[in-house]
Amino acid sequence: MGGDMQVDKIAKLTKIVTIGLKTGRVTIKYPFGAPLVTESFRGAISIDNTKCWGCGACVLICPPNALSMKFEKDNIIIEYFKGRCIFCGMCADVCPANAISVTKEFELASTDLEDLKEYVIHRTSKCSICGKPIGPTSELRSVIKSQPVSEEYINLCSDCRKKLFAKAISIRFGAST
Ligand code: SF4
Ligand code: SF4
Repeated sequence: MGGDMQVDKIAKLTKIVTIGLKTGRVTIKYPFGAPLVTESFRGAISIDNTKCWGCGACVLICPPNALSMKFEKDNIIIEYFKGRCIFCGMCADVCPANAISVTKEFELASTDLEDLKEYVIHRTSKCSICGKPIGPTSELRSVIKSQPVSEEYINLCSDCRKKLFAKAISIRFGAST
């Protein structure tokens, strides 16, 4: 009985080895071969800083907070931390400037955290009357390009804009009476 089981095992093993020898090698010695990624594979994102307005829409939509935005002196800094990114591509979907592309990059291991961070830095525009920071300069330029808004108003903070508008209305009202 024990002898039959041994023969059975040897027969199965021989079959497996024969199949293996016939099939040959089916795997690639990673990382020496090209990684197996499909056409639709989504990896890390790439932000084109020449296109980005600094609007922050990508930061708001990012589920794991891999994108963040901070204000430092006269700059607005968008930070992309690949270590948190889940490669969902939602940021690319909402970006109004088409500044984000989804790459196939996924080999991100590093011993230095800074290797996993990317930054986009925008200068902040200041209100031309009171000097209060009002937003990224590139975003304001994009608004001027796409909206029929006078540059006089676009360079103002909301408070100064309201005051200037109220003054303009009162002058007009005064002139008509
Ligand atoms: S791909 Fe998803 S997780 Fe990664 S930065 Fe964009 S929104 Fe965030
Ligand atoms: S322009 Fe695009 S990449 Fe730049 S902050 Fe807005 S959503 Fe993000």
